[in-house]
Amino acid sequence: GPALPLPDGLPEPELNPNAEVVLERRYLRKDGHGTPYESPRELFWRVASVVAAQEQQYEQGRNPDELARQFYELMTSWTFLPNSPTLMNAGTELGQLAACFVLPVEDSMEGIFDAVKNAAMIHKSGGGTGFAFSRLRPSNACVGSTGGVASGPVSFMKIFNTATEQVKQGGTRRGANMAILRVDHPDVLQFISAKERENELNNFNLSVGLTERFMRAVEQDEEYALIAPHNGKTVQTLKAREVFNLLVRKAWESGDPGIVFLDRINRDNPTPELGEIESTNPCGEQPLLPFEACNLGSLNLGRFVLPGETANGGADLVDWERLRETVHLCVRFLDNVIDASRYPLQRITEMVAKTRKIGLGVMGWADMLYQLRLPYDSRRAVELAEKVMEFIRAEARSASKQLATERGPFPAYDNSLFGKQNLGPYRNATTTTVAPTGTLSIIAGCSSGVEPLFALSFTRNVMDNDTLTEANPYFEQALRDTGAYSEQLMREVARTGTIRDMDHLPEELRRVFVTAMDMEPLWHLNMQAAFQKYTDNAVSKTVNLPNEATQDHIRDIYWKAYELGCKGVTVYRSGCKSVQVLCTGEKQ
Ligand code: UDP
Repeated sequence: GPALPLPDGLPEPELNPNAEVVLERRYLRKDGHGTPYESPRELFWRVASVVAAQEQQYEQGRNPDELARQFYELMTSWTFLPNSPTLMNAGTELGQLAACFVLPVEDSMEGIFDAVKNAAMIHKSGGGTGFAFSRLRPSNACVGSTGGVASGPVSFMKIFNTATEQVKQGGTRRGANMAILRVDHPDVLQFISAKERENELNNFNLSVGLTERFMRAVEQDEEYALIAPHNGKTVQTLKAREVFNLLVRKAWESGDPGIVFLDRINRDNPTPELGEIESTNPCGEQPLLPFEACNLGSLNLGRFVLPGETANGGADLVDWERLRETVHLCVRFLDNVIDASRYPLQRITEMVAKTRKIGLGVMGWADMLYQLRLPYDSRRAVELAEKVMEFIRAEARSASKQLATERGPFPAYDNSLFGKQNLGPYRNATTTTVAPTGTLSIIAGCSSGVEPLFALSFTRNVMDNDTLTEANPYFEQALRDTGAYSEQLMREVARTGTIRDMDHLPEELRRVFVTAMDMEPLWHLNMQAAFQKYTDNAVSKTVNLPNEATQDHIRDIYWKAYELGCKGVTVYRSGCKSVQVLCTGEKQ
């Protein structure tokens, strides 16, 4: 439905300068000439009132006016933001509010081109799409109807890539795709090298789907079979270690492909009777069934720190009571988003209605640690990560349970894992996901997702050609508090990004204000694993490595990710591609 009229006296949101630019460019509604006809206040009221209005369809629904004001306050205090499509499309004609979709790709011309078309519809509405290409017959396999030979997954992916290039997402951003291929598909070697040339498949992230069987073969230095999916025949066998090493080498060279652990993802599939999970959304944090969609939202942890000095590793300064209340409000918000959203395909509407997945996660984690004076690369920080996420998941599930008593459980509940283990009933088949929050974190003015800061001060490339410069506010404040602040120092930090080697600064500052590049790579993974332990879906995280990192480092990281129970891992070695989204240095 449409937004409620703007009530009198609604406070104007306080925007940081970057947020102002981003909102105007991408989020405010615009007329035919590209001129915005809504203010940020109208935007957040539109979202708050449309999401709150869903209460009307439930007997035990809350008062929509009061709830809309609560939602408005929740967002404009930068405590929580829903994923970008919700901000862009709530209350609009398009009305598509979810960021994450997975589409099946069947082994037929019709199936492949249906998927291309469906992806275009989703991109137009601001969503990102994930595909598994594992069902396609390999290149050079026979095509019965024509007597010719098949092109294979990588060749067809180029069509998806080109189609994506031409469809701007709702006029705001270009579509993003994930391609997953199982490690036992006969074209896996071609897939692993598919992005070795710069700009090839640039609208895709690639991940190889690793199986338990493959990991065991790597461990025991055995061969494993490549199986043609259309007839189940073994085409060839490969040495697992050689494939693993190739994966490592390509990731070292270009960051692609990443890896996902498919069996592990399916072990946590809450509704196996509805099908197997073959793919995730573009950034990897949301495994979904074919035709399933999910909306995400992120809490800004930097807003939950009480003043004072910690005596027990930070937990005493987390505002748990406020966090509890906020999580409950957010779950209600995200469950309403499911009802408020219109999906581009009937099949998707039906799947979403069965599982009602939502993904509540966090951003501002590095900001929280800075305020608590805990170094990101420390045991205490990892322990606090587990405490915080364990709490959020427990409260999110309790909120979902509460909603189930008011509104009924998700329809696939009875045959789900929860139903069989008598754990529910829940309103949502999943409640937690940690998203990258690439643009949300700019709007909220916080650090992104659970990432450490890339640099204490940096220049950011956004929207193709614009750049924004910013220093972390907690860092700046700490410098002022210790009397170390000077303009010259800030310029120096903007050039290098880090204060690690600045001997003249207090030791404690240099230890606390670490950046992604300052720490041993394994800390990235320890943190990812800590959040994953208490996340239903997955955790978006890039293990950022310095340029000097070796292939051995990446091999260790992949193996450790497997041992620590991660659902996948992505590495990125600084400088391995010419264009980076985030960069240090004034000149870039
Ligand atoms: N996404 C997309 N296109 C983009 C950025 C994101 O389709 O340019 C989708 C994709 O599914 C991704 C998800 O949105 O995994 C969440 O990304 P992020 O948290 O960075 O999005 P935000 O809500 O901050 O824009």
